[in-house]
Amino acid sequence: MTEIINKFIAICGESGVIHGEDVQKRSGDWLNKTICNALCVVRPKTTEELSQIMKICNDNAIGVVASGGLTGLVHGTDCTKEQVQISLERMNKVISVDEIGKTMLVEAGTPLEKVHQVASEHDLNYAVDLGARGSCTIGGNISTNAGGNTVIRYGMTREQILGIEAVLADGTIVSSLNGLLKNNTGYDLKQLFIGAEGTLGIVTKAVLRLHPKTKSKNMAFVAVDDFAALTNIFKAASNAFGGNLTSFEVLWGDHYRLLTKDSGRNPAPLATEHAYYAIFETWGLNPEKDKEHFDDCFAEFAENELLVDGVIAQSEAQAKSIWAIREDIAGLYELLSPLALFDVSMPIKDMDNYINDLTQNVKEKWGDIAQVSVFGHLGDGNLHIAVSPKVWENNTHREIEELVYTPLKSLGGSVSAEHGIGLEKRDFLHNSRSEIELNIMRSLKQTLDPKGILNPGKLL
Ligand SMILES: Cc1cc2nc3c(=O)[nH]c(=O)nc-3n(C[C@H](O)[C@H](O)[C@H](O)COP(=O)(O)OP(=O)(O)OC[C@H]3O[C@@H](n4cnc5c(N)ncnc54)[C@H](O)[C@@H]3O)c2cc1C
Repeated sequence: MTEIINKFIAICGESGVIHGEDVQKRSGDWLNKTICNALCVVRPKTTEELSQIMKICNDNAIGVVASGGLTGLVHGTDCTKEQVQISLERMNKVISVDEIGKTMLVEAGTPLEKVHQVASEHDLNYAVDLGARGSCTIGGNISTNAGGNTVIRYGMTREQILGIEAVLADGTIVSSLNGLLKNNTGYDLKQLFIGAEGTLGIVTKAVLRLHPKTKSKNMAFVAVDDFAALTNIFKAASNAFGGNLTSFEVLWGDHYRLLTKDSGRNPAPLATEHAYYAIFETWGLNPEKDKEHFDDCFAEFAENELLVDGVIAQSEAQAKSIWAIREDIAGLYELLSPLALFDVSMPIKDMDNYINDLTQNVKEKWGDIAQVSVFGHLGDGNLHIAVSPKVWENNTHREIEELVYTPLKSLGGSVSAEHGIGLEKRDFLHNSRSEIELNIMRSLKQTLDPKGILNPGKLL
């Protein structure tokens, strides 16, 4: 293996390859719960360097795992001691912005937050936004088809990608860097790499679609006491704000109490005794008119008793502190670990019964001390569910998975709304995809990566 590592060094330079004891000094995931176990970490600076590295790995049948910000949380970037981790961390440049065509060409290792900043400097906006924005990368977002907080308005990452450059298992560079909004010239090859979790190729560059810069943001935080009221206020907000409604996020009461009053981690903007809490936010281009319309609609919701308590954020700082409760994933892990965290989707109308049944099943199995904490992107039909049974044995995770995933099948739900499959959900993929679909996925994999070196064992 020293010989292979030397070949990598000859291509990427000494600083481009981390090997020996230094590998395990690197974290294996965003939560710092695991360490990197790879044979070595290769950090190419260019697509051409990566192409040469891939050719060596393919010729020697060495497994390759691409990594971005390690925020995926489904063990998609786990490596064995025989596998090479390809970190895109040195391919982190915004290459160009087309202000008229509203596109941006970026390298795959560019952090999402940097894309937001550069877009804003050009009076534009990149519409995908999520809590991990400071760490996650565009390559990781593409490979997981990340959703985030603005899906009801803009869709997922797939909707924001116009073109992709990727390196295949054998080192072939596929340059499909289309910058056109309209381009109907046969198979849309970029789609192969979106949501593929690094199993069909390594994304090196992308052309992102941008939108006019948001000039006004208005957000409210409301409480309701039953699920019907929650869906009523979602309907009312959708009707009142139309395309300007960018987020409709929910926190079940227990989740809100845990991260505010019970732990003291975040200030509580509203009294904590209610059953459900929701954030809704609108983005627009006309600050004065947007605020007036937002305030009027909020007053109407209150008048019509669609909410039992509520507050309109009066400043960006106040909005941020409310979003901080919704995005406090680190707090959730700190307070409830050991826990199993899920990212599922289902029809909105079925959510409440599903969660009530799940909570009852969890408590029947592990007693009243067990906790189920629920939050997520209600407007997208996507919930995050943390299950903390308080006792943890070898098979506990699998037992919880069975309770969470089994009922989803009959609801037409998905075992992964956003984070992808990785290793964690692989055994449950058949819950959400048919055998025919899985076979087509396997034949795509076989065609593009016949030796199976790309992210081996993940997803399929
Ligand atoms: C606090 C927090 C909030 C989050 N909120 C959301 C949310 O709202 N919505 C959402 O969708 N997700 C969310 N996530 C999950 C996560 O941020 C996303 O999945 C993100 O897209 C992963 O990006 P990353 O760069 O960290 O990828 P990594 O975790 O490094 O990798 C994820 C997968 O992509 C592959 N990969 C990475 N880079 C490449 C590449 N260049 N080419 C090919 N394959 C590659 C990896 O092999 C792995 O399979 C959240 C995570 C955290 C920690």
